Amino acid sequence: MKFTRRELLIAGLGMLVTGGAGGAGCTQTPTTLTRRPGTPWPGSISRPTQANAATRTVSAPRPAPPKPVTSTAGPTGLVPRSWWTRSGPIRSKVNPMKGINRITIHHEGHTPVWFTDERSTKARLEQIRNIHTRDRRWGDIGYHYIIDRAGRVIEGRSLAYQGAHVSNQNPHNVGVMLLGNFEKQSPSQAQLTSLQSTLRHLMAKYRVPVRQVYTHRELGPTVCPGRNLQPRIASLRSSGILA
Ligand SMILES: [Zn+2]
Repeated sequence: MKFTRRELLIAGLGMLVTGGAGGAGCTQTPTTLTRRPGTPWPGSISRPTQANAATRTVSAPRPAPPKPVTSTAGPTGLVPRSWWTRSGPIRSKVNPMKGINRITIHHEGHTPVWFTDERSTKARLEQIRNIHTRDRRWGDIGYHYIIDRAGRVIEGRSLAYQGAHVSNQNPHNVGVMLLGNFEKQSPSQAQLTSLQSTLRHLMAKYRVPVRQVYTHRELGPTVCPGRNLQPRIASLRSSGILA
């Protein structure tokens, strides 16, 4: 695992140079805003730099080939997008996913979330979507799945499209976000249970190996998904639950 992280870091140097924090949710923390000014990423295809192209040939492992998205059906019990919004994506601003081979976990990262009722959850999702489309000028809410404090797994952006959740790392990458700020609170047990089942579903369906299940901070300079969730992911990996 350590080796993989190192390789990941090397391969990600180009990303660090080109920067681009942006993000209405998880990346909009004081840390990232001061360290990573401006340049929102639109979920577009990254352009490999000469540097990371070179290191990739030397040491980076070949990622599993992306498995085609033949159906965007989610895990059992998935709450459809129509539950919280009537708005669709702005099609001119979203790119096709063209296969999936990794998953990235986020927290929302704003004010702590304690609510579990439907109304508040819907309002929060619409608020995030508005920030992403209006302020960030993205084509849709950035994440594919959102898990609320009650443990509902809610469809965000369709898996048919690339997300906008990790700077320059969006191709083939499913974004799963848990509502809340896990620098300041802990995820609920219901959220953790749903996260686990969602990961297992995605990993099985798209044959994503555990080494390609990341947290946001493992791919870029951010505290996301927060100090109270990061160790839980490490435990999930080491326990073999996700293997
Ligand atoms: Zn994040």
